[in-house]
Amino acid sequence: MEPIRFKPPLYEQRYEFVKSYIDTHKPKKVADLGCSECSLLHKLKFRSCIQELVGVDIDEDILKRKGYTLTPLPVHYLDPLERPLTVTLYHGSVCEKDPALLGLDLITCIELIEHLVTEDLEKFQDALFGFMAPDAVLISTPNVEFNVLLSDNSRFRHPDHKFEWNRKEFQTWAMNMSRTYNYTVEFTGVGEAGPESQDVGYCSQIGIFTKNYMETEESISNKKKYKGVYRSVLHVVYPSIQDERYLRKVVLTAALSHAECIKANFLRNLFPEEDGDQTNMADNKDKPPVLSKWLPSLQTATESNTRPPFLEGDAIHVPIETLFAIPRVKELCGSLDVLRNMMNGEITLSADGSAIVYPLHVENDLDSDMSNG
Ligand code: SAM
Repeated sequence: MEPIRFKPPLYEQRYEFVKSYIDTHKPKKVADLGCSECSLLHKLKFRSCIQELVGVDIDEDILKRKGYTLTPLPVHYLDPLERPLTVTLYHGSVCEKDPALLGLDLITCIELIEHLVTEDLEKFQDALFGFMAPDAVLISTPNVEFNVLLSDNSRFRHPDHKFEWNRKEFQTWAMNMSRTYNYTVEFTGVGEAGPESQDVGYCSQIGIFTKNYMETEESISNKKKYKGVYRSVLHVVYPSIQDERYLRKVVLTAALSHAECIKANFLRNLFPEEDGDQTNMADNKDKPPVLSKWLPSLQTATESNTRPPFLEGDAIHVPIETLFAIPRVKELCGSLDVLRNMMNGEITLSADGSAIVYPLHVENDLDSDMSNG
């Protein structure tokens, strides 16, 4: 018999299942128990609802080797996230009770339980459903009935598996858990056999557990008194515009790059012959050609009733009001005053704080340097 090849591979189908559950239910705080190489966590950090991501595994080496895939890249500093995001990896056993795993919206246990001996499974179920008590739990585990369609003749799919359950065994265990700990459970799975096969169920069976109650403050605060046993091996905070420092950076980058373009365009119109641009300034009064070509959001801003740049003394003035009309800047700042405060100290403002001031002679000096040069 030809061995079944899943497309996409089975592990990808499990990750896709978790991703689509998350996209539907939008949990903010998510932990993956038995996270191994952190592959699922790596995918989940891109889900825009997630603000706190936690991984736990008993294999410290693997966490140390693979944890780096969860650290922020330079691009994250250039383009900070809209939401806050922290990622923490813990070395520890899922059979232990640690307050670090309290208050989660979702815990995933993908191909984990079959690695636990009976005694550990009992500790785990109490730690998971009784202590951690997240709002939802996803558990996937091999369905042994499917093994007839797999080519391998070994007893279990992996040498470290302590058991592999059929559908009835898994469902009996899961329903027992849901009764004991007041959850509701539904069953599904991923990895289907072809239509010509006998009914063997999914290759990976999945239980979706949803908590039926709200935990009391007293119960939570009692659990928080437990002594932590997990050891943190990675804790990273992603740059986010929820952090004032990064918000300021994003706003200033957007506003000042637009201001530079307004200034450049104004200069081009002011000295049309000098840079070979014969465009008539009067024709371009309302529609700066350079800006409208490169910066659509600025075009929107300049088309609104905001003040155009102007010359006062020997300086070009770019009104802050014009920059505030840029939709992204307006959205991030909320008010003109916030924008003005962010600019203060970063760039020269006019005495009344209403415009950015660019001295004209600097440009002329540069021009004459170049022509002398
Ligand atoms: N969840 C991973 C995925 O979908 O890519 C793969 C899980 S792997 C098959 C099982 C993982 O569970 C291993 O990384 C193993 O170290 C971990 N594990 C086994 N017993 C554990 C325990 N008591 N506490 C924490 N992790 C455990």
